[in-house]
Amino acid sequence: MKRIFLVFALMAAVVFSADAQDIMGGHYKKALVIGAHPDDPESMCGGTMLKLKEQGCEVVCVYFTQGEGGIPGKSEEEAREIRHGEALNSCAVMGIRPIFMTQIDGRSEINKARYDEMKAVIEAEKPDLVITHWPIDSHRDHRNCAILVYDSWRRTGYSFDLFYVEVMTGNQTQNFNPDSYVDITSVREKKLEAYLCHKSQNLEKNIAGYHDPMERMRGMEFHCQWAEAFIRQIGPGKK
Ligand SMILES: [Zn+2]
Repeated sequence: MKRIFLVFALMAAVVFSADAQDIMGGHYKKALVIGAHPDDPESMCGGTMLKLKEQGCEVVCVYFTQGEGGIPGKSEEEAREIRHGEALNSCAVMGIRPIFMTQIDGRSEINKARYDEMKAVIEAEKPDLVITHWPIDSHRDHRNCAILVYDSWRRTGYSFDLFYVEVMTGNQTQNFNPDSYVDITSVREKKLEAYLCHKSQNLEKNIAGYHDPMERMRGMEFHCQWAEAFIRQIGPGKK
């Protein structure tokens, strides 16, 4: 009897640890990917979004700002219109629904109203998985986005699993030591097709300078060609 119990306990431990570390474990029903700017969700984890979708997980792409500060020579309104359209094109390529929040690129805020806004978006969607920026980042909007999501995770009673992801590590993301990986080799071409919909951002140089080496390095760490890497937020959640 004791031996049977031990076998079950060991099986439970294996299942627990696989679930706890594996985004692709097949158990997520709805994922929100919350990025600070149009192109961030795609560049951070567009491959994982596509693979989750293949598994039947509903994936929603949340843009925290609409890139108002991201086109030199254009007003905030002009840039927002252009980048909103590019984000729609990118989401159409991925077959993923977008949500546009109301923060402004380059001057995002953390205050009570913004905490409540983030919580309201998450509560309305009821995800069981949320992926956002790693909070140690050279870009203020990335940091603010991460902090607001983290606060919502706590205030919703840890109602979803929270993973952080990197973007342009070294230049933007700092001190990132991943504990979770997704092999994106089979969907990387589609990820790049979606990413490159953000035409105003001249992203070819970012791919060559940052995303190729970053995703290749993560691939080597995970023993595959291309990978995206994550850090799981540990806490008194459901696992
Ligand atoms: Zn960004």
